[in-house]
Amino acid sequence: MSQIREIKDASNIVEVIGERIKLDAGGINFKACCPFHSEKTPSFFVNPSIQRYRCFGCGANGDVLDFLQNFEGVTFYEALKTLADRSGITLKEFQRTKEDEEREKLLEILNLAKEYYHFLLTKHEVGQTGRDYLQDRDVSAESIKIFQLGFATNAWDSLLKYLYQKKKYPLELIERTGLILKGRNGGYYDRFRERLMFPLKNHRGQVVGFSGRLLSKSPKEAKYINSPETLLYHKSKMLYGYSELFREIKKKEQVVVVEGEFDMISSAQAHVNHVVAIKGSALTTEQVNLLSRVAKTIILSLDADEAGIKATERAIGIVKEKGIDLKVIDLKHLDFLAKEDQVKDPDELAREKPKAWRQAVESAISVYEFLFNHALDIYDPLSADGKRQIINYLAPILETIDHAVEKEFYLQKLSVALNVKESLLKEDVAKFGQAKEKLATTTDNTSAKPKIFKSHQERNEEYLLFLLFSFPATTLKEKALELQDFVFVSPGFKPVIEQLLNFKGSFDLSRFALSLAEDLKKSLMDALLSPEYEQKLEKETLEKEWQATLLRVKKESLRAEIAKINEEITKLDSSLQRTILEEQKLDELLSLIVAKQSAIKKLS
Ligand SMILES: [Zn+2]
Repeated sequence: MSQIREIKDASNIVEVIGERIKLDAGGINFKACCPFHSEKTPSFFVNPSIQRYRCFGCGANGDVLDFLQNFEGVTFYEALKTLADRSGITLKEFQRTKEDEEREKLLEILNLAKEYYHFLLTKHEVGQTGRDYLQDRDVSAESIKIFQLGFATNAWDSLLKYLYQKKKYPLELIERTGLILKGRNGGYYDRFRERLMFPLKNHRGQVVGFSGRLLSKSPKEAKYINSPETLLYHKSKMLYGYSELFREIKKKEQVVVVEGEFDMISSAQAHVNHVVAIKGSALTTEQVNLLSRVAKTIILSLDADEAGIKATERAIGIVKEKGIDLKVIDLKHLDFLAKEDQVKDPDELAREKPKAWRQAVESAISVYEFLFNHALDIYDPLSADGKRQIINYLAPILETIDHAVEKEFYLQKLSVALNVKESLLKEDVAKFGQAKEKLATTTDNTSAKPKIFKSHQERNEEYLLFLLFSFPATTLKEKALELQDFVFVSPGFKPVIEQLLNFKGSFDLSRFALSLAEDLKKSLMDALLSPEYEQKLEKETLEKEWQATLLRVKKESLRAEIAKINEEITKLDSSLQRTILEEQKLDELLSLIVAKQSAIKKLS
C-alpha cells in the first residue's frame, strides 16, 4: 500500500473538515456552507463512505488531501504532512517536491531569525533601546512573549552573520526570505536595522515575514518596513495576530479589525482579544475569506482619514458577498467620551482607557450609519449644494442594503437630516441604484456558466482530458504528446494541451491551472470535476482506459471528418455541369476519404 493511501485511510475526511468549518450531520452526508464560494444556504456535502466532498454550488470537489490544499492553501506535500502528523505516521522524505523543500528551508530560516531577534530583545544588552521603547508604549512582557517581538541591531550584517556564518545557510536562500538584500557592490546586508521586529505569521502560525518599526529618529528612513512579497509572504493575506488569537475570534464569532501592530497588541492587552491587524487600511477579499470561516461579524476600526473611509466603503462589497455583518467603531463620535478625551487610534484609547475601548467595541455601529455620519460631517446638509453632494455620496451605498426595512430606516433618517421629502429622496436613490445594478448584472453575465448540451464526442474528449490529468506528474507530459496533433471539437482543449507541453519545470496541477487564462481554466476544470469520472483509477486500469478512449476519440474524429467531406462531395456531385476546377476538387476529396478510412483501419 502506498504511503499516500495509508495516510488517507488513517484520516477521516469528516473529522478533518469538521475541525476547520462547522459541519452539520444530515442523512448520509454532512452539510455546510461552502468554504470555497459565497453562499447563505449549504450546498457543500461531505460523504463519509466515499470520503469525498462536493459543492453543488461551485463544483468544488475532491478528497481529504484536495480539501486541505484548497482550504489551507498548502502544497500536496504539506497537506500530506499535516495528515501524517495528525495520525502519527512518519512521512518518508521522497514525496517532497523542490518547492516543498524550498518552503521548508525558508520557514526554518525565518523561524531562526524570529528567535534571534527575540533573544536580542529579551536577553541581550543591545536590546535595551527596544525594551525601553516597548515600556514607553505599555507593551507587557506577556505580549512580547505571545507575539514573539524582537529587536534588530543597527549593524549591517548582524542577522546575516548569524544565518550565513553560524547556521551555514546559503546566501541566495537567505535572500529569498527577504531578510537580506544585495548591495550595489554585490555584497549582502540586513534589510532590518535598528528596528523593533514583529514576526508576521500565516494563519497556521508559521513565520513568513517581518514588519520592523524604526527606533532611531533618522528622518531618512521609513517608520515601518515590511518583508517583500516572497514565496511565503503575501501582504494581501496577512492578518496580524490571527494565528495567536483565532480561538478567541471563533468563540465570539466576531472580529475587530485594526490597522497596525500596536493597535492589535494594545487591544488584546485591554482584553479585547478577538482582534487582528491588517497592516494598512485596505481589507482584502483574501482576508475576509479567512475571517469568514470563524466570524459572523467584522468590526472595522480603521483610521478616520480618507484612506480609512475609502477602505470602509470598499469593505461593504467584499463582506456582503460572504454574508457577513459589517460594523464600524466610530472613534470620532463616541458619545460616552468627553470632547477632550477624543483619541486618534485604537492603540491610544486601549492604553489610556481600556474600559472605554471595550465600550467602543460594544457600541460599534452599522457601516451604513457610519458612512451616513461621515457624509453629514464633510458636506453641509443645509445648503442646496451640500444636500446634492450628500445624496450623490450616499445613494449608491444605501442601494446595497438588502433589507427593505433597514433601507427605509436610513431613507427616513436622511430625509429628516436634509429636510427633503422622503418620496423625492427615494426617487433619487433608486436612480443611482438602477445605474449601479445595470453595471453589476452586465459584469455578472459574462462570468455565469451557460448550460450547453455536449455532443457525444465532446464528452469523450472531456473524459480523455480527465484521464490525461490522472497520470502522475512525471508521465503526464509524455502522454500529452500523444494528443499534440489531435483536432479537438471542444474549443478549449487544444490550447490547454499546448500550454501543458510548454509548461516549464516539473508538473504541478495547481501551478499549471494558475498559469491558464480563465476560460481555459474553466475547460480544464469542467473535465476534471465531472462527477461521473470521480472514481480514482488504479495504475493499470488508467493506462488501459487511456488507450481505449484515445482510440475511440481519434476514430470518432476521423469519422466526423469523413462525414464532412462526404457532404462536400454530395454538393459537388449534385451539380450537373462541373468546371474543371470542381472536377479536380472532387478527385482530391475522394482520395482524402480513402486516406482517412485507411487511417481508421490502422487504428484498430
Ligand atoms: Zn462551493
